[in-house]
Amino acid sequence: MSPASTEVKGFYRRSVEERREVLREASGLASSDLAPWQPGPGLPSGLLERMIENVVGAFALPLGFATHFKVNGVDRFVPMALEEPSVVAAASNAARIARLRGGFSAQVTPPVMIGQVSLVGVPDPHAARLRILAAREELLKIANEKDPLLNRVGGGARDLEVHLRSTARGPLLVVHLLVDVRDAMGANAVNTMAEALAGELTRLSGGRVNLRIISNLAIHRLARASATFPREALEGEGRTGADVVEGILDAYEFARNDPFRCSTHNKGIMNGISAVAIATGNDFRALEAGAHSYAAFKAPPGGILSPLSTYETTPQGDLVGTLELPLAVGTIGGAAAVHPAAKLNLKILGVSGARELAEVMAAVGLAQNFAALRALANEGIQKGHMALHARNVAVTAGARPDEVDRVATRLVQEHVIRQDRAREVLEDLRRAGSSSP
Ligand code: NAD
Repeated sequence: MSPASTEVKGFYRRSVEERREVLREASGLASSDLAPWQPGPGLPSGLLERMIENVVGAFALPLGFATHFKVNGVDRFVPMALEEPSVVAAASNAARIARLRGGFSAQVTPPVMIGQVSLVGVPDPHAARLRILAAREELLKIANEKDPLLNRVGGGARDLEVHLRSTARGPLLVVHLLVDVRDAMGANAVNTMAEALAGELTRLSGGRVNLRIISNLAIHRLARASATFPREALEGEGRTGADVVEGILDAYEFARNDPFRCSTHNKGIMNGISAVAIATGNDFRALEAGAHSYAAFKAPPGGILSPLSTYETTPQGDLVGTLELPLAVGTIGGAAAVHPAAKLNLKILGVSGARELAEVMAAVGLAQNFAALRALANEGIQKGHMALHARNVAVTAGARPDEVDRVATRLVQEHVIRQDRAREVLEDLRRAGSSSP
C-alpha cells in the first residue's frame, strides 16, 4: 500500500472524530483498531484539545507510586509515570535503605529563571552593555508590569546581566533577565517579560532584538539532595556491604572520568526525575535539557560532562550520596494546573508548592542513581530489568494472562529473553497441556 499524502488541509480545524477518520482511512484500519486512543473518563477529549493541537486521543503510560520516601522528615508517596521497568521498584528500594538513616535531606535555591534577549548589529557593544546595565531599574519595572499576579505572590523580575559574545556573525549582546517565578515552571512568565523588554533594549543598544526566550540552563534554580546509605544494608549476592560501597565509589569515579559513562549515570538520575515530572504535569524536556546542560556547565576544564551526583563515605564506612541540578518545576501553570491526573498526583504527593516538589524530585533522582550504581556494582542491572522485560516479551509472543508468568520464568531461567524463544516456550506449554487452549 503506498502511503497516503499527509497534506491534509485544515486538519487542525476538524473534530477529533474527523481526524481519526483521516488517519484510519489513510492506514487502512478498522474503527475498532483505534480503541487504544480512547481517553479514559477522567480525561475528556475537550481537555486534551486545549492542551495540544491535532488531537486524536490520549496515550496512556503506566503510573506507579514509589514507597518508603522520607524527605526532610516528611513521608511522601511519589507518583511516577514512565514506560521503563524496574525504575519505580529501584527508587522505592533505595528510599527504604536511605530511610534507615532518616531519609533524604533536600533544599532548593530561590526559583530564579533566566530569560534571554539577544541583540545583534549593535554598533558599540561594550558601551551598549553599560547603558543597559545603567537602565536596570527601568527595565525591571517594564518586565514586572507584565505580571502583577506573579509580583503579588512574591515573585517577579529581580536583576539583569549583560553578556558580550563574539560570534561568527559579529558581536552578540545577550541580556539575561533574572525572574523569581515562585511556584511556576516559569517559561510563559519569563518569555512574556523578555518580549516586553524588546523596545527599550533596541533603543538602548542601537541594535536589533532577535530572540526572547527562557534558558533551560537554570543555574540559579538548583535543587540539592543528600542521603546516607548504611554499609551493612548494602550487602548481598555474596558481597559484603564494604565491597558494595567500594564498587559504588569505583562506579562514581568511572562516571567522573569518562563522558560515555557519565551520560548514562546522569540518565539514570533523570529516570526518576522525569517520571515524577510526567506524573505531575511538568515539562520533562525542560528538566532533561537543564540537567544535561548543567552537567556540561559544571565539567572541569577540558572535560565534557560531570556527574550530577557525588559519592563518598562517612568515617564509619557508610555511603553518602549527594545530588545537585537545576529543577525548574511548577505546581502552578502548565499541565500541572489542568491535567486531572497531574492534579490528583500532586494532591497525593502532598507538596505545598514548587519548592517542595523540587526537593522530592531531587531525592528521587538521588535514590534512582544510588539504586542503579548499587545494582551495577553488584549483580548487574539486567537481573532486575529482565524479569519484567521477560513478561513483556511473553505478552508480545502471544501469551495469555494466565500463561505470562510461566513463559517469563522459563525465559529468565534460560537467560534467553527473546520473542522467538518465548513463542517456542509457549507452544511447549500448550502442547504439554499445562495451559488451557
Ligand atoms: P503559566 O504561565 O501557565 O503560569 C504562571 C503564571 O501563573 C505566572 O506568570 C503568574 O501570573 C501566575 N501565578 C499565580 N500564582 C502563582 C504562584 N504562586 N507562583 C507563580 N506564578 C503564579 O506557566 P509557566 O510556568 O510560566 O510556563 C510553563 C509552560 O511553559 C509549560 O507548559 C512549558 O512546557 C512551557 N514552555 C517551556 C519552554 C521551555 O522550557 N524552553 C518554552 C516555552 C514554553
